[in-house]
Amino acid sequence: MTENRLPKGPEQLMSEVIGPGWCVSCGACADLCPYIKAVGDRVAVIHPCGLADGNCYSICPRTATDYAALATAGANGNPDPALGGWRRIYHARAADTQVICAGQYGGVVSALAMFLLKNRECDAAVLTGSDGLYPRWKLARSEAEVLAAAGSKYGVCPSLAGVNRALGLAPERLAVVGRPCQVVALRKMQYCSSVINRDKIQLVLGLFCFWGLDYTIYRFLAKEGVNKIIKADVPKDEGLSMETDQGNLKLSQDETRAFIRTGCYSCIDPTSELADLSIGSTEADSSWCALIVRTEAGEALVQRATASGVLQLREPTEGTVDSLRNAALSKKRRVLAAEGTESGHSVNTGYLQLAEEDRRSIMEMADRV
Ligand SMILES: Cc1cc2nc3c(=O)[nH]c(=O)nc-3n(C[C@H](O)[C@H](O)[C@H](O)COP(=O)(O)OP(=O)(O)OC[C@H]3O[C@@H](n4cnc5c(N)ncnc54)[C@H](O)[C@@H]3O)c2cc1C
Ligand code: SF4
Ligand code: SF4
Repeated sequence: MTENRLPKGPEQLMSEVIGPGWCVSCGACADLCPYIKAVGDRVAVIHPCGLADGNCYSICPRTATDYAALATAGANGNPDPALGGWRRIYHARAADTQVICAGQYGGVVSALAMFLLKNRECDAAVLTGSDGLYPRWKLARSEAEVLAAAGSKYGVCPSLAGVNRALGLAPERLAVVGRPCQVVALRKMQYCSSVINRDKIQLVLGLFCFWGLDYTIYRFLAKEGVNKIIKADVPKDEGLSMETDQGNLKLSQDETRAFIRTGCYSCIDPTSELADLSIGSTEADSSWCALIVRTEAGEALVQRATASGVLQLREPTEGTVDSLRNAALSKKRRVLAAEGTESGHSVNTGYLQLAEEDRRSIMEMADRV
């Protein structure tokens, strides 16, 4: 695949994605031009530019998306219907205790971003920090700025607006950290020749993500008097657990579900299949991450960071890869079998350009889980 262009524009982005509620607030279309803006987690076309063929439509992760073609273009490892292409899977953590403590599950993402900046392999990293309560995109140029943005914010922050801003600024080489839907948008940007300065995007670090929360969660918390989330987590088989300036707060799984973004029910990519590296929980030990190495560039980065003593690796503990594959397959099956709704939520798989044999193989593997 050399080019990803779809012959539609902002009018269709509004009528096919944003209007019907499929937008997952990745932010890729926001600030791509002066006419599309994000306010909180809502994205809107504020002025009709009249373009019949706009980048905003081509790069959206909820317009026609051919995962197989995008993966081939990124030269990901051997295909796997459960996790996407991968070369190696490790358990990993930062070597520095300060980074482990600041990070979500071992600080792997922060350690890698800090390594890239320290060694001048990248000039800046596009991250998602917070202003206390609400998540905000952050262009980190120093290790301290990376550390300040560590930790998971479970709201669907449109942080790729930060990439659009950065593409027009001085930094030449960018690393970007994103949720799987954001990783898809980044790959679409890289293969859309009319996106100016797209070559600045050098490394894509993807997170695992089975759902993201609508910003109604923050409005709910604000009403409860919360001004700051210090740390949030989703322990296995539990809802959302938060340490806040007003003390600890827990939402049950059902209460948490009420805040899940509608578009997340149509997402079949829980492990950032198109990233250079994918990072998520091991489910067994919260001071280590599961690290999926996918591309040659990702593999080389892991080798350099490990050789420099920044990253620690170990083989996954028994059963953890199987359990991750099973969780991913279950999510895919729920979406592909949904026929319009899943758990009472609307599902739209119209954007997925999935070959019938790939669909069948996912469903057959999922049936064996
Ligand atoms: C919305 C969301 C849902 C997730 N769901 C799961 C899950 O179901 N299962 C699982 O195993 N892992 C999930 N993760 C990933 C997990 O929480 C950790 O981010 C991952 O393990 C990396 O840990 P770390 O210690 O290396 O990260 P850190 O070193 O703490 O770095 C975390 C990085 O994540 C970025 N980030 C934070 N919030 C967001 C956001 N909202 N959008 C984009 N980037 C963000 C920051 O830029 C930061 O650089 C989720 C993450 C998010 C943001
Ligand atoms: S999913 Fe991303 S690119 Fe698509 S409309 Fe929403 S913010 Fe824009
Ligand atoms: S579940 Fe999918 S669509 Fe929702 S935030 Fe995560 S990656 Fe994006």
